[in-house]
Amino acid sequence: MHMQVRGAVFRGPGRPVEFEELALDPPGDGEVLVRMVAAGVCHSDLHVVDGEWDRPAGVVLGHEGAAVVEQLGSGVHGLAPGDLVVLAWTAPCGTCDACGRGDGWLCSRPDGAGHRLGEDFVRLHRPDGTPIGAYSGIGTFGTHQVVAASAAIQIDPATPPEVAALIGCAVTTGIGAVQSTAGVKAGESVVVIGLGGVGLSAVIGAADAGAREITAIDTNLAKLELASTVGATRTVAPQEAQRAVGADHVLECIGLVDTVELAIELVRPGGVVTLVGMPPQGDRASFDVYRLVEDGKQIRGSNYGSALPARDFPNIAERYRAGRLPLDALITERIGLEDLEAAFDAMRRGDGARRVIIY
Ligand SMILES: [Zn+2]
Ligand SMILES: [Zn+2]
Repeated sequence: MHMQVRGAVFRGPGRPVEFEELALDPPGDGEVLVRMVAAGVCHSDLHVVDGEWDRPAGVVLGHEGAAVVEQLGSGVHGLAPGDLVVLAWTAPCGTCDACGRGDGWLCSRPDGAGHRLGEDFVRLHRPDGTPIGAYSGIGTFGTHQVVAASAAIQIDPATPPEVAALIGCAVTTGIGAVQSTAGVKAGESVVVIGLGGVGLSAVIGAADAGAREITAIDTNLAKLELASTVGATRTVAPQEAQRAVGADHVLECIGLVDTVELAIELVRPGGVVTLVGMPPQGDRASFDVYRLVEDGKQIRGSNYGSALPARDFPNIAERYRAGRLPLDALITERIGLEDLEAAFDAMRRGDGARRVIIY
């Protein structure tokens, strides 16, 4: 039995997404059918739509979402219909070399890779039978999806759906970059460059880690003010960035070559630069190699905040519920699925932290 669902389908770079009625197959072995309740609009979706990342057309976009389990496929344990789940865009296989090292975020064959559930199969089809993929195996810009059970992480049902959605990408990426990749310790000084959903989450993560001084840098005044309300102790415009020289940690959360180079300049000798923002594919940054070596600076890349979804999603939700993480502040606007293009436009203008689709 197929189910009729609605999804925002990527049709190719530079083209608007199309809202299509699609048929969804029942869940297979190790899969669950979920009903989306909230989905955040992330810059990574925009990179795809704007052609800055090379991704195949014919895919329901969206990789940040919360959902309710509706139906279990065979062999699924630990989940039940009605569970609130956060969807993970990397669901570690548990058996590859990276997973064996404990680095699940670097898994070489996560469930959902290639926007397919298996080697080459999908659960979504157009009425004419054309297969449609789901972005990163979860395609959260659709009313329902069939996802790998390993990508559906159960969290406390008291978590508001829009906050749960953001835990699926921005929040975990930002907090994880600070607390796991960078390993910020109480008393250290932290600079965060770029205050979108990820950067603001990094500010929240730094405050939660007990950082002594948290400097937020952005061109947007409203975002600087927001950063102050979630833990930044100082806000600085980019042209005054030199005031932030000498930090123990600098996190670049935009993915621009200029700010990557700025981050390397700002960190103190022996300090750690953590690169979180994702630039267009192929971008290259440069730095003074002599100085970097002499100053003993470190540069780290942070993928998914070095997170293990099954461990970190419930933990973040718990800390939110305990009042330690002011994640509500990240939500700029609640919108409908049809407002997706307007949300992309706002993101192109750098307007607002996070827009969340409510289903
Ligand atoms: Zn994202
Ligand atoms: Zn793996």
